[in-house]
Amino acid sequence: MSDVTDFSNITEDRPSFVTHLECSATGDHYEPDFLQGLSDTGKPLLVRYDLEALAAALDREKLASRPSGLWRYREFLPVRRASSIVSLGETATPLVRLKGTEVRTGSSLVVVKDEGRLPTGSFKARGIALAVAMAKELGVERLAMPTNGNAGAALAAYGSRAGIDTFVFCPEDTPEVNVREIALQGARVWRVNGLINDCGRIVAEGAGPMGWFDVSTLKEPYRIEGKKTMGLELVEQFGWQAPDVIFYPTGGGTGLIGMWKVFHELKEIGWLGDLPRMVAVQATGCAPIVRAWETGAEHAEGWENASTLASGIRVPVAIGDFLMLRAVRESEGFAMAVTDEEIVASQEQVPVDDGLLLCPEGAATHAAYLQALEAGLVDTSDRVVLFNCGSGLKYPMPPMEANLDCQAPIDWSAIAGV
Ligand SMILES: *Cc1c(COP(=O)(O)O)cnc(C)c1O
Repeated sequence: MSDVTDFSNITEDRPSFVTHLECSATGDHYEPDFLQGLSDTGKPLLVRYDLEALAAALDREKLASRPSGLWRYREFLPVRRASSIVSLGETATPLVRLKGTEVRTGSSLVVVKDEGRLPTGSFKARGIALAVAMAKELGVERLAMPTNGNAGAALAAYGSRAGIDTFVFCPEDTPEVNVREIALQGARVWRVNGLINDCGRIVAEGAGPMGWFDVSTLKEPYRIEGKKTMGLELVEQFGWQAPDVIFYPTGGGTGLIGMWKVFHELKEIGWLGDLPRMVAVQATGCAPIVRAWETGAEHAEGWENASTLASGIRVPVAIGDFLMLRAVRESEGFAMAVTDEEIVASQEQVPVDDGLLLCPEGAATHAAYLQALEAGLVDTSDRVVLFNCGSGLKYPMPPMEANLDCQAPIDWSAIAGV
């Protein structure tokens, strides 16, 4: 038996169909089974597969007969040896319908894909599970990254499980719970008096003296492959169809790029017809992709003085900017920014309406959906998926002020709130 609950998905008899890595800017090919960071032109590398052979080896019925979870999609992933996989139980995440929002807006279908159910409480587990498996497969002993919190937590956990040393650098205003979680899960972690790009520079500079491999967002090819399982899972849950519109809280963009990539892979093998519109959601305090989308630019300018309570999407400079913009434009989607006030309003509304706690970034997609409806960018008849990428339990919550004196007579009208 290999590892935790989905061990029956972690078997040796599922081959990988990787053929090569490809530079996302020039299309140049790179060898797949060696440690690779960025391409020679400094751009992200994408994993390419022999999709024809994949489709000959696997069909949707066979897939449906497997246990659920990330590792059921092995043929779409780059790991060659089952023994490389470290698993903490990467469960399939549920689609949770927001009836309250549907009633308020007159919409026909609004669902949240609740990624907060994954190990370490965020969808970063998907990408990191793949990055760590590939690091193990390729013999890496030290990994490092800059993080706003959730990626570092996942790296710490998967690194510890794999027996790989991890080094994590966080901006000093990273939520305290994240920093402590990273430390408790076995990484060496530092608060840095700067932003995520300052942390990124430290990781890049340390590669020589520390001998670590840099697993920053999109600086290695495999986190995207892990994140693309969101797209696989989503269309499988929709009966091998895509929803009409996906609202995605966009930071470094791994998920947006990964889903768009796998939708094309699925289309190519005939498992998916129409593709969804992709909406990149950012916060008004850090919206480089929105600004580039509005001006028609191919690349985004760095954002000065980035600030938003949604720390997971506070990414002022993203190396995959052109890939995100490409996905948004090709899909005939759009990019949209919401204020922190709107984020808080959705964060307070949705749990009361529908019992689902959202992280700030997830709440941003809900706020963006409301704004897009108002602006006529989406229609009430559209089937909409909002991504809640982390558990709301990992974030500070508003204070609760009610105290009751059990020695005194109880004022029931105060308790009833009348
Ligand atoms: C990392 C993160 C994001 C942004 O995801 P990307 O795929 O890197 O754009 C959004 N929400 C949360 C909670 C995150 O941790």
